[in-house]
Order: sequence, then C-alpha cells, then structure tokens
Amino acid sequence: MPQALLTGTVVKAQSGFFVVHTPRGDFTCHLRGRLKKEKRSTDLIAVGDRVEISTQSEGGGMIETIAPRHSALARTAPSGYKPRGGPRRREGESQQVIVANVDQVVLVFACAEPAPHMRMLDRFLVIAECARLPAVICANKSDLVTVEQAESLFEVYPRLGYAVLYTSAETLAHVAELRHILTNKISVFAGPSGVGKSSLLNALQPGLGIKARAVQQVTFKGRHTTVHPELFSLDSTSFVADTPGIRTLELWDIEPEELDGYFVEMRPYVKDCDFSDCTHTHEPGCAIRKAVEAGHITPSRYESYCRMRSGDLF
Ligand code: GDP
Ligand code: ZN
Repeated sequence: MPQALLTGTVVKAQSGFFVVHTPRGDFTCHLRGRLKKEKRSTDLIAVGDRVEISTQSEGGGMIETIAPRHSALARTAPSGYKPRGGPRRREGESQQVIVANVDQVVLVFACAEPAPHMRMLDRFLVIAECARLPAVICANKSDLVTVEQAESLFEVYPRLGYAVLYTSAETLAHVAELRHILTNKISVFAGPSGVGKSSLLNALQPGLGIKARAVQQVTFKGRHTTVHPELFSLDSTSFVADTPGIRTLELWDIEPEELDGYFVEMRPYVKDCDFSDCTHTHEPGCAIRKAVEAGHITPSRYESYCRMRSGDLF
C-alpha cells in the first residue's frame, strides 16, 4: 500500500535540500526528480511553498508535489539585462522568489529610539502595493511615548486603510493582537534595525528572535548574495520571515510612471490630471497637487512620492 503523503510548508531551502514543517514535525527533504523537470516560470521551489512529502527514515523525506502559489515576494533575478517593471513578471524575464505564498507584510517601526522614518515606511508600503500584498504597520516601542504621541505619529495610515498596531516588546502591550493577526498566515517582517523586530519575535515565542538574528548575520555579510530566508513557525500554520531581502528597495525596480498607483490615496485622482503622463510634480492642471492643496492628500505622503519619483532612496 502506498504511503500517505504528509502536507507541509517549506521553511528552509538550502543547496538541494528543503526543511518542510508539518504537523508531525520538521522533515529534511529532497525534491523528486520529475518535479525538477517540470517547467515553471519562477523558481521551482522556495520557502513558503505548500508541498506534499513522503517520509522516509527518521526525519527524512521526499517532496512529491508542490501546490500552486497564491502570491510571492519576488525580485528580478540578477543578470546582464535588467528589465524594469518591478516584481511582476514580464515576458522573458526570470524571477527569484524570496518567499512564496506571503499573506501579509508587517512593517515594524519604532515610536521612538529610533524615531520613525516615515519616508522609509512609505517606501515599504509602495513595495507591498506593488507586490499586491496587504500591509500591517507595527508601531513598536509604544511604551516610550504617550498614546496620543504614538497615534499622532502614525495617524495618516489608518485613514489610508492600513492597520496600525501599537506594540511594545517591553510591556507586551498589543503583542497578543500581533500574534492574532499572524495566525494561519505567512507574514514577512520588514523595517529598519533597532526598532525591535527580534524583541517582538522573542515576545511571540521565546528564542525566536535570537534564531532570526543568527540567520540575518549570515545573509547580511554580502549584500548581493542570494538571500533565501528562513520561515519561523509560531505553530504549524503560522509563519514569519524576518527578511533582509525586502529591506532595500534597490531590489524593487518600480517604474517611475507607475509609482502614483502604489500610493493608495493618489489612485483616484490620477485620471483627472490634464496630462496623461503627468508626473504630479510641476505640471499645470495636476489633480494630485490640487488634492494636496485641498487637504485630501497628506503633504508628507506627497513628499514621499516626490522623493521616490526623483529617485531618492529614502
Ligand atoms: P531589531 O534590530 O529590529 O531586531 O531590534 P531589537 O529587537 O534588537 O531591539 C533593539 C533595541 O530596542 C533593544 O535594546 C531592545 O531591548 C529595545 N526594544 C525592543 N523593543 C522594545 C520596546 O517595545 N520598548 C522598548 N522600550 N525597547 C524595546
Ligand atoms: Zn498630476
């Protein structure tokens, strides 16, 4: 009788073997040869992929099937020819999937120490919009400021539809809510260093932040080395990736002309500009600038747009 297959999630991919997390524990697996031959447009397999495995000896296994992906955080694979256009795949372009089946990105910033870098937050939101992934903002170190201060720092974002959680890894305020929004999902953590990502992971599960830190140190050594992050399991269906790859937008080659579409509050106005190729920076009859003047678009967000449009990183 053939052995029943076990369903799991790839949590680590490393030179030919894959660690698959299943309700029965982790299995170190190889990929069935015929799967390697099947043509797929993106990386054959990445962390986050849902697979079925046959188990072999103690802790070993073979990946038999790979489920279709519902999303991916990907970047254009480095090559001589660098096509523009961001992570969406275009004809003849190869992609490097960083994490498959991502359900959301959690953008972690601190309310203080360091003060939140809103330009960077806006940039991450653009990345999330471009990858068509929901974004949640985690405003950590909320214990260092008053509730009013915290809310005024991030007030624009809930109005744009982004949830903001005011957490503290120190007092554990709202950490239970954070845990709740991570349940049954694959979440990618991103944010500058020092904001408390490792501390939050530790608060969610003792030891997790330390594990994540160790992976980061290895992958950070060479900025241009291929980063295949690890997923950390909170339970058998909830995973987080604390991923160096998403931290720099150098990897995300977004066309300047499509940037306005990734600022959610600008989208409705774009069609009303007099020029169809309006950059919204200096043209007469610009509906975006009118919306800024009328108070419908927050000046700080408009400034983020202008800075990104002019090629400024942050
Ligand atoms: P990471 O670089 O984003 O992983 O940040 P860390 O988790 O290493 O935290 C950086 C520093 O901030 C450490 O000294 C933490 O103890 C401190 N820290 C982290 N979270 C909080 C918090 O919620 N409140 C306060 N007061 N300090 C925090
Ligand atoms: Zn315009």
